[in-house]
Amino acid sequence: MLPPIYIDNAATTAITPPVYEAMKPYLTLHYGNPSAAHRLGNEVRVAIEKARKQMIALLGGGEGQLFFTSGATEANNWAIRGIIEEKAIRHVITSPLEHASVYTTIAYLGEKEVIVPHYVAIDAKGDIDLDDLARLIKRYPGALVSLMHGHNEIGNITDIAAVGRLCREAGSFFHSDRVQSVAYIEDNLATLPVDMATGTAHKLHGPKGMGWLYLREGLSLPPLLYGGAQERGMRAGTENVAAIVGGAKAVAIAYQDREQHRERLRELKGYLVEHLPGAIEGLHFNGRSGDLEASLPHILHLRFPWKRYSDTLLMWLEMRNIYGSQGSACTSGAVTRSHVLGALGISAEVPVLRISLGKLNTMAEMERLVETLGALDREAR
Ligand code: PLP
Repeated sequence: MLPPIYIDNAATTAITPPVYEAMKPYLTLHYGNPSAAHRLGNEVRVAIEKARKQMIALLGGGEGQLFFTSGATEANNWAIRGIIEEKAIRHVITSPLEHASVYTTIAYLGEKEVIVPHYVAIDAKGDIDLDDLARLIKRYPGALVSLMHGHNEIGNITDIAAVGRLCREAGSFFHSDRVQSVAYIEDNLATLPVDMATGTAHKLHGPKGMGWLYLREGLSLPPLLYGGAQERGMRAGTENVAAIVGGAKAVAIAYQDREQHRERLRELKGYLVEHLPGAIEGLHFNGRSGDLEASLPHILHLRFPWKRYSDTLLMWLEMRNIYGSQGSACTSGAVTRSHVLGALGISAEVPVLRISLGKLNTMAEMERLVETLGALDREAR
């Protein structure tokens, strides 16, 4: 069998050797509890605070504004539920295309009548209608606005600086999920008009179980978990030390390698954008993903013109040792499609494939991918 091709990097990525090396001592040698009063605990506490300092130096902001979590799902839940409670917010403006950790949280709070959700209009390409957003923000001053930066399924990029300015004018609060964009789009949280931003290490070749919530200076939330004084009393529980150290290392590498990595992925994605339509007549790129300038460099979302394979495409590819997805990992294991494709008007009968690239992908893999999908096209017609 041919070697495996992993094209599901928007779901998760492999830890790279330097990240693994940075983590190892905190799994074996330095195992003290960071809250312990003795030296073995203290040296571990120092490592956590060093990781925080390193990250904040890159992301922007002050040390008291970055909190480590178990991932972005937790950070998104905390940000949304926390600010609603803290500021007694009644209206939440969001989009029908948000990640499940945002979309479902807001839908749940809406069902429980804690808040009233408002969904901004989107166009056929999945872009936010900024006029409609401005209208909603004006209509509900003091609302929470939650919109992600780079889309995890279709790669669209939202101008969060523009959204943030609209929010500031209306005295509203802006939360942005920056999980998929942080490795590719440079922003400084200290100057970006964003009140809360989230990220997660495992999407950028760091470990699973390490995410973060950034809070704008002067903003506070109720603690997520009560107990010990970890994370300055905001999130109790013994820290996932190795993951925090590895996550900070992964962010540092992502910032250091940004230009080079982005260009490499653009080249790989560019090859697919150029050659796939020739191999599959009638192929469509969903959202903005086919536009190399206007989308994230690692995401390409395909819609095929076939009447078959809507639910067997991934299996067919897996039999050829190729591992992709239809969309977000939080929904792709389920039989039903993600709410995102539904909101874009893509029927569940239509075969789709999200190709998401990472550091380990090669041009030879892209060539094999085009050939394999071309062969499937001949079979499907
Ligand atoms: N937000 C986006 C945009 C994502 O792509 C993901 C990952 O699927 C998450 C949030 C959730 O991140 P985590 O797996 O760290 O909970």
